[in-house]
Amino acid sequence: MTESKQIEDVLRGVVHPASEKNVVELDMIEAIRCEEDGDVHKIKFKLVFPRPDALASSIKAACKKAVEDAFPGYTVEIMELVREKRAHKAKKLEVDQIQLENVDKIIAVASGKGGVGKSTVAVNLAVTLAKMGYKVGLADADVYGPSIPKMTGTEGETPQVYLPEGYKEGDNTELIIPIEKYGVKWMSIGYFAAPEQALIWRGPMACNALKQMILQVKWDELDYLLLDLPPGTGDIHISLVHDIPLTGAIVVSTPQAVALSDVEKGINLFRNPNINKPIYGLVENMAWFTPEELPENRYYIFGKDGCRKMAEKYNVPLLGQIPIVQSIRECGDNGEPSAVRPGPVFDAFVKIAEQL
Ligand code: ADP
Repeated sequence: MTESKQIEDVLRGVVHPASEKNVVELDMIEAIRCEEDGDVHKIKFKLVFPRPDALASSIKAACKKAVEDAFPGYTVEIMELVREKRAHKAKKLEVDQIQLENVDKIIAVASGKGGVGKSTVAVNLAVTLAKMGYKVGLADADVYGPSIPKMTGTEGETPQVYLPEGYKEGDNTELIIPIEKYGVKWMSIGYFAAPEQALIWRGPMACNALKQMILQVKWDELDYLLLDLPPGTGDIHISLVHDIPLTGAIVVSTPQAVALSDVEKGINLFRNPNINKPIYGLVENMAWFTPEELPENRYYIFGKDGCRKMAEKYNVPLLGQIPIVQSIRECGDNGEPSAVRPGPVFDAFVKIAEQL
């Protein structure tokens, strides 16, 4: 088996023309792996650019050629991604937010109304970003109806506790280790309650439980932490956006008028001068229905382009449209998000992720 060290040595021969340093020195190579897929021997790694780079494709081609020449008979697969260097960003964090120190972007996934597919979008987006090579976590902030354990097939798992160096009993510094599956770190209050147990929280208790699910978790380094917010725009939301250093939000809706009127409230929540967080865009879920036997037909069951019009009205991008697909519901119920497998659902989420 070829060692990753040998591959790294070969990649030291690939120099970035702008800096005259090689791609290994520039910390651009990650996760070198050798895999066997039947008779095919593969070498895989990530090529990480600290910012969009006009030379990206030529550098990628040079890496591919260098490794192919050094290891004939191997297929070389390179996952190219852009990840801004965190070190340059001085974040202002409170002491209790220290676990978010190495989290680059914290994005809330919100909806004005329940049942529009907010959790489904959050889970599939998380899986898609992970498949694109990013380090991703998702915190289920829907304390009243946590659905992430079910949707990810992690129901019944119990997160482990991490005791930091110098820990003393009662000092409250223990951390929860998130559950990892599909390349994503998941955290949910659902891991601490039996599925059939209704979670009845009073406002402040819910807020505290929620903050713990985000702030007392050992996330380590993440490119994206998604927060699946509870539906609506109540006190919990206001408290949360105050206490968590959100980078911005996306709002999920279905196209019909009743759902859209709640979207306006969602947009206004983030645009409230006291909160003032950017809205990256709207995601229109259940945008149309296409029956399997008539793949060319689109039926606009909930109306057409409702979110597009709303996006125009509020001057936010429409990040994407997800159709009603039976497999999305089935996969959600079976604990394997649709975007885990290649296909039209994954493609739709890649478009959304790219826009983000
Ligand atoms: P919310 O988080 O907004 O309450 P969920 O994500 O829990 O909504 O979705 C509600 C139900 O609708 C779930 O059963 C889910 O599988 C299903 N669902 C969501 N989006 C779609 C879709 N695009 N196609 C088919 N079923 C969907």
